[in-house]
Amino acid sequence: MSDACGSCSSATAGGGCSSGGCAEGPEDIKLKTTLSRIKHKIVVMSGKGGVGKSTVATNIAVALSLAGKRVGLLDVDVHGPSVPRLLSLEGEQPHIGDQVIEPISWSRNLWVMSLGFMLPSKNDAVIWRGPVKMGLIKQFVQDVDWGDLDYLVVDCPPGTGDEPLTALQTLGHDAHAVIVTTPQGVAVDDVRRSVSFVRQVGNPMLGIVENMSGFACPDCGAVHDIFSSGGGEKLAAEMGVRFLGRIPMDPEVARSGDEGYPLVKVDHDGATAKAMNAVIKPMLELADLLQENKDMPCFDDLEGASGKVRIAVPVVGEVLCNHFGHCERFAIVDVDTELKSIISTTFETPPPHEPGVIPNWCADQKVNLVIAGGMGAKAQAMFTGRNVKVITGAPAEDPENLVNKYIAGSLTTGQNTCDH
Ligand code: ADP
Repeated sequence: MSDACGSCSSATAGGGCSSGGCAEGPEDIKLKTTLSRIKHKIVVMSGKGGVGKSTVATNIAVALSLAGKRVGLLDVDVHGPSVPRLLSLEGEQPHIGDQVIEPISWSRNLWVMSLGFMLPSKNDAVIWRGPVKMGLIKQFVQDVDWGDLDYLVVDCPPGTGDEPLTALQTLGHDAHAVIVTTPQGVAVDDVRRSVSFVRQVGNPMLGIVENMSGFACPDCGAVHDIFSSGGGEKLAAEMGVRFLGRIPMDPEVARSGDEGYPLVKVDHDGATAKAMNAVIKPMLELADLLQENKDMPCFDDLEGASGKVRIAVPVVGEVLCNHFGHCERFAIVDVDTELKSIISTTFETPPPHEPGVIPNWCADQKVNLVIAGGMGAKAQAMFTGRNVKVITGAPAEDPENLVNKYIAGSLTTGQNTCDH
């Protein structure tokens, strides 16, 4: 595997070089080609091991496949690849062809690759050296023949070290992170670190899942709060991250894991299966996001605070700036949700343009909607991750005019003028 750009400070996803100082090698081109055939990447992470990350990742992948999507499940948890066990695929040997590895087909639309398939035996402890681990993670994305996928779900190594960093960098800036935690304080602290880690790397956060939250009683079917719960939800609110839901502690989950069948495949009505299925809803919504303004968010659906929604418009001079990332200022327009009229407009200067910075800055300003001319898919994905709605293709007009038209339902939009 080429390491041409690995040590370069401008290294990007795929090992390419944003500075233009390094040439793109065949490995980089291969990685780019593989990634270009995958519509959405979901990276399931956790601050530490044992919180149910692999269980959640596996159930997400199966639930997406049951929803009719073409799904890949990639297990690069070098510390304990458990996906083969969770899907009864232990002992499977992927076919290695001429520079490609065939993933194992679990169903007609779910393909699986795991480091576990490469271990001589499940009882063998393998000590991977650092660079080998990074190389493996990259290779498993690039050399596996994933084909055309709607979703690649990645079971990422826990923590905030080099391994999850490699996973995110390999998958690129549009890979969405899902963080799994348990409600206990210590796990929640780990999540705080994971959220800032993802933000620093510049990837969009899809949200937080609180696993082992309450106890699903096998006798009465109800979920009892035997220990504390809600820590993940509280943290999500505090950090401005979407809360994807609580999955109770359920003996059936542990049993299904041990016996190798994913819960969502066999149970549709239980509280735990329902909770797992709810987690994939925002993932299914990602598909709409990439279709330009097909569904313009409705004013009445905006979720503002205390009778007010905040709309941001990037401006240059006095009008909307077509290039979102290069605007001079943002018009921040507060609108009364009941009267449907503008309360105030202020102009704020955003921080310097760098990937991921402006979406986070807007979300921190408590913006609910951005009306933009052109905006790349990565920035749009980041806004979704922070629960900020986006309209693209709006004309270069006075920001208050645009907001008034939007409220009145008469805003017309055209092409997203800068989709990069
Ligand atoms: P991680 O990938 O974070 O190390 P795993 O997914 O391997 O965690 O889960 C660790 C253990 O916890 C497994 O035995 C699994 O069956 C169990 N487990 C995970 N989630 C639940 C749950 N909601 N209810 C009961 N047991 C669970």
